[in-house]
Amino acid sequence: MKKEQSAGIVVYQRNKETGKLEYLLLHYLGGHWDLPKGKVEGNESLEEAAVREVWEETGLRVAPIAGFSESISYCYRGPQKELVDKSVTFFIGETTESKIKLSEEHLAFEWLEIGQALRRLTYNNARHLLSMVNQFIHARDEALNSLEQK
Ligand code: ATP
Repeated sequence: MKKEQSAGIVVYQRNKETGKLEYLLLHYLGGHWDLPKGKVEGNESLEEAAVREVWEETGLRVAPIAGFSESISYCYRGPQKELVDKSVTFFIGETTESKIKLSEEHLAFEWLEIGQALRRLTYNNARHLLSMVNQFIHARDEALNSLEQK
């Protein structure tokens, strides 16, 4: 079976008024809503590919946070009806820039709080991943806050 490896970043920002986290979702030409990602090229590492893809798809320079990397997998039929066994590894990255320069692969983007983002995503595996990301960021925030109070 043909194998394919992609990489992406779950990009979030903190709303300046509410402090709540907002996640960046993209509306792909195929009709689905997903997280920014794309295929690994040449000798790139997964992190390098993820950073490049986010840059190409959104115009954002986002650096992955240490300590999180999770993969999802699925199969689909390629253009010649061949089965493709795909794995997509995601990192997490924060940005303070909410202006997006969409590539031609996308119809739209949205910054959404967790509940809305989970509803908007098309695929359950991406939903599950986003829930893990949300928990990770909250746990990390709590750990950093308690360190600051010491
Ligand atoms: P990439 O963005 O990694 O370059 P691509 O645009 O070539 O990838 P995919 O986004 O993997 O391809 O889409 C290929 C097929 O798989 C499409 O039919 C798409 O609807 C489906 N698909 C995309 N993401 C998922 C997912 N998380 N779970 C199941 N099927 C998916």
